[in-house]
Amino acid sequence: VIQEFDKVVDTLCPFCGVGCQTSVAVKDNRIVQVDGRNGYANENRLCVKGRFGFDYAMSPERLTKPLIRRDDAPKSGDADMRGVDPLTVFREASWEEALARAAGGLKTILRDHGGQALAGFGSAKGSNEEAYLFQKLVRQGFGTNNVDHCTRLCHASSVAALMEGVGSGAVSAPFNDALKAECIIVIGARPTTNHPVAATYFKQAAKRGAKLIVMDPRGQDLMRHASHSLRFKAGSDVAMLNALIHVIVEEKLYDEQYIQANASGFEALKAKVKDFSPEAMAEVCGVEASVLRDVARTYATAERSIIFWGMGISQHTHGTDNARCLIALALITGHVGRPGTGLHPLRGQNNVQGASDAGLIPMYFPDYKSVENIDIRGAYENFWGQTLDPKRGLTVVEIIDAIHEGEIMGMYIMGENPAMSDPDQTHARQALAMLDHLVVQDIFLTETAWHADVVLPASAHAEKLGTYTNTNRQVQIGRPALDMPGEARQDWELIVDLARRIGLDWNYNHVSEVYAEMAAVMPSLKHISWDRIEREGSVIYPADGPDKPGNEIIFSSGFPTADGRGRIVPADLLPPDEVPDEEFPLVLTTGRLLEHWHTGSMTRRAGVLDAIEPQGIAAMNPYEIKRHGLRQGDMIAVETRRGTVDAILRADREVADGTVFMPFCFNESPANMLTNPMLDPYGKIPEFKYCAARIAPA
Ligand code: SF4
Repeated sequence: VIQEFDKVVDTLCPFCGVGCQTSVAVKDNRIVQVDGRNGYANENRLCVKGRFGFDYAMSPERLTKPLIRRDDAPKSGDADMRGVDPLTVFREASWEEALARAAGGLKTILRDHGGQALAGFGSAKGSNEEAYLFQKLVRQGFGTNNVDHCTRLCHASSVAALMEGVGSGAVSAPFNDALKAECIIVIGARPTTNHPVAATYFKQAAKRGAKLIVMDPRGQDLMRHASHSLRFKAGSDVAMLNALIHVIVEEKLYDEQYIQANASGFEALKAKVKDFSPEAMAEVCGVEASVLRDVARTYATAERSIIFWGMGISQHTHGTDNARCLIALALITGHVGRPGTGLHPLRGQNNVQGASDAGLIPMYFPDYKSVENIDIRGAYENFWGQTLDPKRGLTVVEIIDAIHEGEIMGMYIMGENPAMSDPDQTHARQALAMLDHLVVQDIFLTETAWHADVVLPASAHAEKLGTYTNTNRQVQIGRPALDMPGEARQDWELIVDLARRIGLDWNYNHVSEVYAEMAAVMPSLKHISWDRIEREGSVIYPADGPDKPGNEIIFSSGFPTADGRGRIVPADLLPPDEVPDEEFPLVLTTGRLLEHWHTGSMTRRAGVLDAIEPQGIAAMNPYEIKRHGLRQGDMIAVETRRGTVDAILRADREVADGTVFMPFCFNESPANMLTNPMLDPYGKIPEFKYCAARIAPA
């Protein structure tokens, strides 16, 4: 009953990239109810995370005081600190002491070893303003481009392919455009689990008669609504997609006029796919040739076709090649730049689009402007009044390796949890323990924070004001509903405090001033002022004028590339880096559960969500379980060349034969202790979706 609330705040869901707008009801500084608002992306809908996952912000486990590592608390690299009293490892400190210690350690490394010995991980959970300030601090204050965030672990290969192919890493059309499409491809994504509200649009489109083609080695709910369900062999994406292109070329289903006007590279593509006939590829990808032919014809001949993809495409050593094939499909059929067509990598975290746009990546300033371009760098040097690093920085996994090499000695990590999210987790945790100085800013004592020298208690999503950009390119405003607990402080203020303490002359009085600075350097935010976002709640970029609505569809008159054309880049079929053998005969693949998000730092502290999925699991199909002489509920040991993890065995008929699926959110069963850190050469994304494994009773 609305009168029983102290206030109702219009804000955003803190979880996935769908960016649902919410109304948050508060009583006695506690969120008591969350409802969906009539936002463009959610039209009053919310999933279980958005509706019931809010209480993590009020968890008694919130950090409320700055912490400093005790002198006698060695770093072990073993972050399994469950059951350990934090005050045996850390002591509480005043803000003055903690910030002085945090900045002092970074400054000492800067003075003695230079900026290349420092690095920063920002967060896609934070606001655009926080992301902008964080990358500015690393670039201007540390003097290095060693700054990255979790986009490296989710869509870096998609962005690499999109930048190369169409000159922009953003989606070309919102997911709502599924309702305007005649044909929808969803590949390597499980929207009913990971983007549940977006999935409602896909289901709705299918009910209205659109052809829905779902391609996934695992079965999934969306297949119940699909006209075509292709459970292809994991790792064979290029074989399957090149076979589709082969059919389109062979049967002349491509749009010659569109290609002539808008794309280059078609001849090379034709030559490449010659040997990829569906008949030749059927065995490789495990899909019948006739089905491949039918899918190719359905996609190519529809008036409007759109492609959505997720990390099943991107998290491979050939992730960029996978995305190149999708871009090629769209470019040769002209299915881009019109309503109901396009390319849409579904973004994982709530602000992964915005954090990437804001420059929280090692090779680009804001808006994907290369740090290696002398003119662009010169402009930033003038703007920030500082000589800047001319080389691209190291990516997430490269930074971990550089710590092992002794090249990086200090880090500032805000809101990221590499001790859970990085591949080959033991290697990553050992790296964190090797750092001379680690500052972690977070709302919980995460597995990463256990390795810190200084822990700064920060603000939860429900406590801060800022802008966030969802997967649709909608810049939206999140508003504070709660007061922060104890002595916790706003993230953006902490970044500013650290910057000032390492000698930068920063002066911001309100987060809107940070936004104004961003908007001044980012063409994507032209005509989108803070006041406008406050007023309208959400504005899609790019916008043509301060009073004009943003453009939902981009690329309708060419591409933002040097010659204005899209570039088709043919892809070769390469095997995954580590394939099953006699010793490790199974495939391990990782992902998420509906109820848990990312490394679980928030959702495992959300009562309802953790009650539904409370334990670390490993899922196999019932036939595999029987074949191994096991039963659902058994505790099993999953082993790869990097380690062994115990988990409860779950029977799941959606998991393919010969495969084990593990979510990576459970610290008692940390799947990333097992995953392969080998990188895609272009996007530098690890191969989370495929490595060789074996199982045994635990
Ligand atoms: Fe939140 Fe995503 Fe669910 Fe919407 S779909 S409520 S943004 S988790």
